[in-house]
Amino acid sequence: MKVELTKLFQMLPFLFNAAIKNADHKKLTRHIINLNQQNSVQGIINEMSVCLKEILNYRLFAFVIQRETGIDVWLDPRMYRKSLESVFIQDFNLSGDSEINYLNHTFQSDEKEHEFSLENLVSYLLDEQKCQGKIYMLPNRNMPDYHDDIVGMILKSTGIALSKQINIEHLTNAATLDPLTGCYNRREFEEQIRKNIASAKRHQTPLSVFMFDIDHFKKVNDTYGHQAGDKVLQHVSNIVKKNIRTGDILARYGGEEFIAILPSTGKKEAMELSERLRQQIEDQSIVTESGEIWVTASFGISSLASSNKQADSADMLKLIEDADTMMYKAKLNGRNTIMPSLTEIQT
Ligand code: GH3
Ligand code: MG
Ligand code: MG
Repeated sequence: MKVELTKLFQMLPFLFNAAIKNADHKKLTRHIINLNQQNSVQGIINEMSVCLKEILNYRLFAFVIQRETGIDVWLDPRMYRKSLESVFIQDFNLSGDSEINYLNHTFQSDEKEHEFSLENLVSYLLDEQKCQGKIYMLPNRNMPDYHDDIVGMILKSTGIALSKQINIEHLTNAATLDPLTGCYNRREFEEQIRKNIASAKRHQTPLSVFMFDIDHFKKVNDTYGHQAGDKVLQHVSNIVKKNIRTGDILARYGGEEFIAILPSTGKKEAMELSERLRQQIEDQSIVTESGEIWVTASFGISSLASSNKQADSADMLKLIEDADTMMYKAKLNGRNTIMPSLTEIQT
């Protein structure tokens, strides 16, 4: 009896560890199922972060995904950005032109930063078909000896889920976005304007559209080259993107011509926004390898008065046609100006 009890005591740590290991594997299975049910990059990373914390008590600091033009970063806590950014720059060989795009924060210029010691930081590589990256963590307590296996399994599952999601996003983006500017393409614009007109009528809310075209753009290409011209298109569309609301839609309508849908926006507000944009485009130069470039743009604005009738394609055509006519008038008026349609379309 005594012998058996001693044996049992000897086995206790082993049994205890086996029980913990078993429980951890159950948690892991649950998290992997959750991972695969997410339908956004952010959702997948959030789930992975919860999983790491729950099973290993690891504090996830950053998850970095390599993209063509730079990196996407999920960061927590936000105040360690500076310390970690220096690590990213080194690990991913980032140059001055590379973008660091934060997935879960927008940073202000006067943001408080905390230095933190990178001494205990551990990192693991993620290398899946469509998803190369790294996770950075800080272990909080002594890890069980199988922790590497668990991290490996979490990473593998995350990589597979992310690869699938990135594939879906690439396909959707290729079908709806203009590759140069990241604005919606014309086809998607037509789809969106139909939906927005129908919604404006259903909820009896106003809706405005503005169209703008860069002035003397041919001369920009002729003077500075086509590549510099492309940079101007990206710069100008970025100014507009930064100034419009989340529900607004900006599309590249033709070469250097853009169009925007502003839901729940009347003519006066659309004019104020267009004037602000016109001014910013005029004020901000674009620095390119072939020199500093200044451009201006001409805007045409049209609006739909609220009504409760059914939407039809005549409204869509009229809205676009009015904005286009007014933009043409802005060109005739000397360019670098905005022209609102005198009437609102009554439907
Ligand atoms: P206006 O003030 O009357 O609008 O004159 P403009 O020179 O801007 O207009 P025009 O229509 O004569 O020229 C437009 C130019 O835009 C010609 C075309 O080569 C250029 N363009 C169209 N798409 C692109 C593009 O993707 N990249 C670059 N760099 N240029 C483009
Ligand atoms: Mg032009
Ligand atoms: Mg044009």
